[in-house]
Amino acid sequence: MQEFNRIRRLQDDCPSARTIEELLLRAHKYPQVFRDFELHLLTCTRCGKIVERIRLFYGILERELMEKADPKIVQFVKALEADMQS
Ligand SMILES: [Zn+2]
Repeated sequence: MQEFNRIRRLQDDCPSARTIEELLLRAHKYPQVFRDFELHLLTCTRCGKIVERIRLFYGILERELMEKADPKIVQFVKALEADMQS
């Protein structure tokens, strides 16, 4: 969470791609940090591109899971999600 605080402090500074991904996945847990990041997104094309890439990735992942779900992959992703929400 240290990096989240850094986002709040340095509003013009870009977080890492990893932090952005965590921010998106945990937006429900840190709504204020997420709102601050949304404001940052309005002026930052670099972070906007990263968000687009992450959305694309999760979109593909979701479609894959809906179509031909290999039980092993489903289990793997569910474990990942549970891990992210803890
Ligand atoms: Zn940025």
